[in-house]
Amino acid sequence: MTGSGTVRNYACLVAGERLTTKSAVPVLDPYTEPVIGEAAEGDRSTVDAAVATAVAAQEEWARTPLSTRRRVLDLAADILDERRDELVDLAIADTGARRPVAAELQVGAPITRLRAWARQPDDVLGWAAADRDGLGGRVTRTPVGVVGCISPSNFPMHSISGKVAPALFAGNTVVMKPAPQDPLLVSALAAALNSALAAENAPAGAVNLVLGTGPETGAALAAHPDARAISFTGSTAVGTAIYRSGAESMKRLLLELGGKGALIVRHDADLDSVIAAVTRTWTIQAGQVCLTPARILADRRIHDDLLARLRAALAELVHGDPRDATTTVGPLVSADQQARVTALTDTARREGATVETASGVPSHGWFHPATLVSDCRPEQTVMQEDVFGPVLCVMPTSDDDEAVDAANSTRYGLTDYVFSRNVHEAEAVAGRLDTAQVAINTVRRHPDLPFGGNKASGLGRSGGTYALDSYTDLRAVVTAESH
Ligand code: NAD
Repeated sequence: MTGSGTVRNYACLVAGERLTTKSAVPVLDPYTEPVIGEAAEGDRSTVDAAVATAVAAQEEWARTPLSTRRRVLDLAADILDERRDELVDLAIADTGARRPVAAELQVGAPITRLRAWARQPDDVLGWAAADRDGLGGRVTRTPVGVVGCISPSNFPMHSISGKVAPALFAGNTVVMKPAPQDPLLVSALAAALNSALAAENAPAGAVNLVLGTGPETGAALAAHPDARAISFTGSTAVGTAIYRSGAESMKRLLLELGGKGALIVRHDADLDSVIAAVTRTWTIQAGQVCLTPARILADRRIHDDLLARLRAALAELVHGDPRDATTTVGPLVSADQQARVTALTDTARREGATVETASGVPSHGWFHPATLVSDCRPEQTVMQEDVFGPVLCVMPTSDDDEAVDAANSTRYGLTDYVFSRNVHEAEAVAGRLDTAQVAINTVRRHPDLPFGGNKASGLGRSGGTYALDSYTDLRAVVTAESH
């Protein structure tokens, strides 16, 4: 597994069968850098085969009783759960996640998601309308058909399980396309779902997997006329291309795109909880988290104190092996991402910000040192762009108005935060933020609430059962008399 022994080959899976492709590409461990697996290099013909298979299986899967569809999701969760320890090791090698992050978010959360969808009540897929003027009626959620599920590099199995589980629950078939940097966990999910389908005598073509390094496979899937919906999580640039190419066949789109979260620290905030919240930008997946609080907008009355505490926290960080319990900052997912983050912090310096970096970064692995950027202004590139790395920007603000203006000054609208001891006033500030989610005095996400993006952060919502809007059509059946 580490460059010398046998390297496992991960194949594209169509109806549960390994599909032969012309070539395979190495997948590297972001910390140790040797090859941990070889992933098949799919192309347009692989996408065509996977979509055709998903189309062929769709009617039968939609007719499969909901109880069976539930059991498939549950069984897949059980299969992954049985491999949990092995998958946590795989997640560390695949994504560079630190062990607790790998256990909780890379592996644990997807298992929980599959089980949660297996337990949704029947009535989320259909309900009776109230009688009106002698008319009754029923609303049914019908599956859209084939759903292309395209996931990003930061939390591959977490992200794609949030697409595949509701799509399958609602009777759609799926073609999964994970990010090329770390496709191995998603391959494990596809294998588990295929085993579960086989165990339940359900159609094998309900779940398909296409691997591929360049944009070709994702673009082919996004533009495929027989993929009726695309559920995408990734950058705004790619999401925009998918929006464009989906227009031709009027696809359903769920687009979860970039973010540039602002965290407003009011003068009366509890700074201990602010520090605990914002340092996660350095420590969780090396800042490769879409909803990370990347811009700290701090009231001038507490700004210097907060900055001093952040400097102290920066000095305490330990960059290193994600397998080591003392490590607090792991590597980025790829050399490309490392170069991108470096370019953005260089630009921050050129644009007049003060850039301080942590020391003690290993000489190998795709690290970018945890970075504190101060003397920020809203128009600086580092304050506008989705850095997707361990970079925290701090800007002083004079009052709530300035903080709100700065928070709303980017093209993104994903998740913002307000920290204040006065919850009433914090809610008033939160109400002025042009963002899909606002969290007050917490950075945690509520699993039952809608989740998505405004502006350049996307279209549609997941979270709770809101995702069903993207994977189903609403059918109205009107009856002359109610029964
Ligand atoms: P990316 O956009 O580079 O890639 C995402 C996926 O799209 C990958 O599977 C990739 O292979 C595929 N892809 C690439 N070109 C394509 C094309 N032309 N057509 C179709 N698919 C294509 O993103 P990434 O680097 O993997 O992830 C980082 C980005 O994702 C950041 O911008 C981050 O903010 C965003 N993100 C958003 C959320 C959210 O919930 N809003 C969550 C996680 C990550």
